[in-house]
Amino acid sequence: MKTPHSRREFIDRSIRLGAAAIAAPMAASLTAHAQEGKKLGFALVGLGSLSTNQIAPALQKTKHCRLAAIVTGTPAKEQIWADKYNIPRKNIYNYQTFDRIADNPEIDVVYVVLPNAMHGEYTIRAAKAGKHVLCEKPMEVSAKRCEQMIEACQKAKRKLAIGYRCQFAPHHLEVMRLAREKVFGAVKIIEASFGFRIGDPKQWRLRYDLAGGGALMDVGIYALQGARYVSGEEPIEVFATETKTDKVKFKEVDESILWSMRFPSGVVANCSTTYLVGGINRLFAAAETGWFELDPAYSYGGLKGRSNKGEMDFPQVDHFATEMDDFASCIINSKPTRAPGEEGLRDVKIMTAIYESIRKGRAIKLG
Ligand code: NAD
Repeated sequence: MKTPHSRREFIDRSIRLGAAAIAAPMAASLTAHAQEGKKLGFALVGLGSLSTNQIAPALQKTKHCRLAAIVTGTPAKEQIWADKYNIPRKNIYNYQTFDRIADNPEIDVVYVVLPNAMHGEYTIRAAKAGKHVLCEKPMEVSAKRCEQMIEACQKAKRKLAIGYRCQFAPHHLEVMRLAREKVFGAVKIIEASFGFRIGDPKQWRLRYDLAGGGALMDVGIYALQGARYVSGEEPIEVFATETKTDKVKFKEVDESILWSMRFPSGVVANCSTTYLVGGINRLFAAAETGWFELDPAYSYGGLKGRSNKGEMDFPQVDHFATEMDDFASCIINSKPTRAPGEEGLRDVKIMTAIYESIRKGRAIKLG
């Protein structure tokens, strides 16, 4: 049984949305490439696991983007990437020469794929160089740094988006629709969880100065996002507890966190995140007359959805290609992005309140 979520309906809706985007008026502040109708040039900053395995391959599948430049602190990677992606020598930078991207008209967008606590510096430097910025999640490690990033991009009149890939995935768009259109009545309870078993004890994800937090900042943020976009509201109160079974490995950052959020309409979300085990990867909503869920919900592919009416059958897309094409289309058509810096800032403020709740052992009210 495939009602009420059919592939045909989704494709029809996507075509309508696409047509609307094409008809959008062109505004004055377009980059040269957008004006010429060429693909926007992306510079990847940080050639680690995500850039190597997901983003660079995804760039090859996009309609409006191309991999124009790389920024790396590891000289050995330069030739490998240059050969693989046909990147000219003049478009290869390191962290010291990064600011020279200002003189390179082939770069329209800088995609920041560095450890969390480096997002602010490279976003601000990219904006000062006159580039639009797509920055990975979490936006930064404090609300203050997020605000500085927003301000820098506003001042430079450049767009800033956060890499919330799920917001562009058909399965997530469908759960947003089911909630917003009250297809099963009003949503009352949300359960969201995401975790994985972390390996190498020496990696930056376990260092507070580079990560700003542990499982919550890294993957709990997906559950937080899910709860926010299914409820369609901002939480007014959070309450959280932390469990730490390995006090050596997780000396600096959180290992497992359970938290709940209350929303203004009375919706409640129960969420969890961990670095101890995989297999929790779920976004579930119980509504007045039924339920719907995604499980797995946040993986790069193979998402599965169902409701009490049956399976949800949607196209599996490359999340990163979709996210980058959407951002490029926002730049080309002078449209606001669905995941701007302000969206990243909201999550960082809520995560800060979750940590405060753990420290103080009580619920924290949010403004
Ligand atoms: P990674 O460790 O694989 O790569 C990090 C890169 O940063 C490496 O190239 C490393 O050399 C470079 N780097 C520069 N300065 C560094 C320093 N001082 N310490 C450590 N590394 C340094 O990490 P990753 O998995 O590619 O994650 C990068 C960012 O992407 C993080 O913010 C992470 O949260 C985010 N991410 C997002 C998703 C997603 O699905 N959207 C998935 C994974 C990671």
